[in-house]
Amino acid sequence: MREAFIPGNVYALNDNGLDGASPRIMIAPPKYIQGEGVLDQIHHYLSLLGCRRFGVLASSRGHNAEAGRVIESIAKSGGESVLAVFEGECSVAEVEKHSRALLDASIDCLIAVGGGKSVDAGKCVAYRVGVPVVIVPTLASNDAPCSALSVMYSDEGVMNGVEFFPENPVFVVVDTSVVAAASARYLVSGMGDAMATWYEARVCAANPKARTVLGTRPTLAAGALGELCAKILYEHGEQASLDVTSGTVSGALEDVVEANTLLSGVGFESGGLAGAHGYAQGFTNVGQVEANFLHGEMVAMGVVAQLMMEGDVTEARRVAEFFARVGLPITLEQMAWPEMTTMG
Ligand SMILES: [Zn+2]
Repeated sequence: MREAFIPGNVYALNDNGLDGASPRIMIAPPKYIQGEGVLDQIHHYLSLLGCRRFGVLASSRGHNAEAGRVIESIAKSGGESVLAVFEGECSVAEVEKHSRALLDASIDCLIAVGGGKSVDAGKCVAYRVGVPVVIVPTLASNDAPCSALSVMYSDEGVMNGVEFFPENPVFVVVDTSVVAAASARYLVSGMGDAMATWYEARVCAANPKARTVLGTRPTLAAGALGELCAKILYEHGEQASLDVTSGTVSGALEDVVEANTLLSGVGFESGGLAGAHGYAQGFTNVGQVEANFLHGEMVAMGVVAQLMMEGDVTEARRVAEFFARVGLPITLEQMAWPEMTTMG
């Protein structure tokens, strides 16, 4: 079993101080596939990998249906599947337990099915087993599926680090009918996370000392994806939130799912994070907020806070009005934190 990947200077080629020149690096998954019913056709895409024996890592909470469809599809092309049920946190202990079992099962590809933590765990397990990872998100609530990193937690659920990988997931396969069947709150939360992409990339590009999560300067390409992401959300976010409430796979929903998953995922990783995610990270230390709010909801508050810190009141007002229309929190009171006063 391989050890956890330590990037060292692979990415941060000039990380000996923030004043020196730093390269721009762009990373992304080689293939992103999105559409209604693609899960039942996944064997066509998997055949491009030349693998025969697949590990399918799926969370025990409500994602068995999707994992079953993946396994059925694999069987159609004569492939074999080994199901691994993810039950805990994305912790080192849980990851190593599945890595040992799937190493013994001699898989040649891992498919991670689920909403958040099982997706991140899948990247860790695949790296340790030494096989490519395919991500099948069942929600569009965050931008984790496309990235080459996993957020790690203790067995008690407290965030305690990030693991980086040398490559992004080889395929990301999003079935929009699955996303449409989930609670609207998840898609809306994903809009909060995705909206941050442009505002964080913008401020990183303007600050010569800013570095992305790779330890490098942001790329123009990632900034452009972030800007497009915000444009799609402003134009179609409200309609998509209505469509997901009625379980309808519409053009607006397809666009917002792509914004939340692909544009935001590639945009944040090679465009840079800033105040919005810092603010959201701080929120995870407040028990009552951490327990009751999703990542994207905390990031939404962070976007408004970041823009106020930048002094861009016009844009803060614009984004706050959008968040209010789709149902994202914009005041600390809405975050069940009435003892704190809100920003002016
Ligand atoms: Zn995020």
